[in-house]
Amino acid sequence: MKKTAEQWRQQLDEESYRVCREKGTERPFTGKYNDHRERGEYVCICCGEKLFESATKFDAGCGWPSFYQQASESVGSREDSTLGMSRTEIICTNCDSHLGHVFTDGPDPTGLRYCVNSVSLDFKPAE
Ligand SMILES: [Zn+2]
Repeated sequence: MKKTAEQWRQQLDEESYRVCREKGTERPFTGKYNDHRERGEYVCICCGEKLFESATKFDAGCGWPSFYQQASESVGSREDSTLGMSRTEIICTNCDSHLGHVFTDGPDPTGLRYCVNSVSLDFKPAE
């Protein structure tokens, strides 16, 4: 899915645009899904693609919604060496939206921690 910066600006609010399209980071403990425990699935705020499921969400104490497993192939990763750190960025491969980063200090069974900005996500409650 390709849209121009102007189209994304119209679709997204200011904070989502900054995070998703300009690789920003929301301030920790401020996101609406950090403490969110309802059952359902988390989708891309930009394109609606399913990304994570509530069953794999856990409290990492880091201030951002955290998951130990991605729910679809649409979560992609690439190396990110900005800010002088070597990290792995996660993106929505369907629309190239920035989601957050994945770290290797997560719980079993994957040992991964997908650390995601709330403003990169939308939530669909389970039926
Ligand atoms: Zn997307």
